[in-house]
Amino acid sequence: MNYQQILEEIAAETADEAGRGQLATYIPELAKVPPDRFGIHLATLDGGQFAFGDAEIPFSIQSIVKVLAVAMAYGKLGERLWQRVGVEPSGTAFNSLVQLEYEKGIPRNPLINAGAIVIADVLLDLLDDPETEFIAFVRKMAADETISYNLQVAEGEKATGFRNAAMANLLKSFGNIRNDVNRVLDFYFLSCSIEMSCRQLAQSFLPFANHGQLPGTTEKVFTISQTKRLNALMQTCGFYDEAGEFTFKVGLPGKSGVGGGIAAVCPKQFAVAVWSPLLNPKGNSHRGMKALELLTTKTGFSVF
Ligand code: GLN
Repeated sequence: MNYQQILEEIAAETADEAGRGQLATYIPELAKVPPDRFGIHLATLDGGQFAFGDAEIPFSIQSIVKVLAVAMAYGKLGERLWQRVGVEPSGTAFNSLVQLEYEKGIPRNPLINAGAIVIADVLLDLLDDPETEFIAFVRKMAADETISYNLQVAEGEKATGFRNAAMANLLKSFGNIRNDVNRVLDFYFLSCSIEMSCRQLAQSFLPFANHGQLPGTTEKVFTISQTKRLNALMQTCGFYDEAGEFTFKVGLPGKSGVGGGIAAVCPKQFAVAVWSPLLNPKGNSHRGMKALELLTTKTGFSVF
């Protein structure tokens, strides 16, 4: 498979899409990102690395981190985790509050904001030094010690994150947040502020394509069953109320973020990350979705 040529074709064939969509302006720092950035990186399980465009520039991974957070919590807590967060697609926006009240504070899944806030609370209980241990886990997944939080992004989101604060307080009222609400929100915003390049992001998702094993090592971060379930969550919940559309058009487990990144996994083959900051109305990268649709069309690889 000539992945390099395919990535170049994808960049050329999606160039017309470049100006479409909107930056996520509700997080102040994200409004400053040059909207014409486009990068893609594909890492294969046998060590192949293929890239095009701005694949080395770190960007705000935002909600993509929810996969890494739930993966860490699941790896540590096992099946008990699902007592506090569900595994059903929400069919609602990432920051929706509506289901939370009538489902009595149990978020539909860990990849919407409400679920990720519960996962942040779980990690605060499980870890002695959550900020340090979580970034260490992300660095280990990506095999890269340079990955960091961006404190300015986290602060900016905290100052404007009224909807997430509402969600955390509602969760607390139902008893599904154990720590102080502000402590949980701070950790959630900090985790969303992690910056990674497409290359680092693709690398960090390779264990999901590799039965939970860190590529090139014998170390397992998750069991085969946990990996299957984490991929299933990405497939059914990774794009909020566009999860069906992404499954229909791309056919890979994946996760988007409002920074314009998308990471996706082709089990036993590769992990891929794409970045293009302009978002469609559902909050997913407009050009990124098109790029991945072309990738599975051209390679013929998908989980279906
Ligand atoms: N930090 C963002 C928020 O909580 C993440 C949203 C996203 O990337 N979809 O609103």
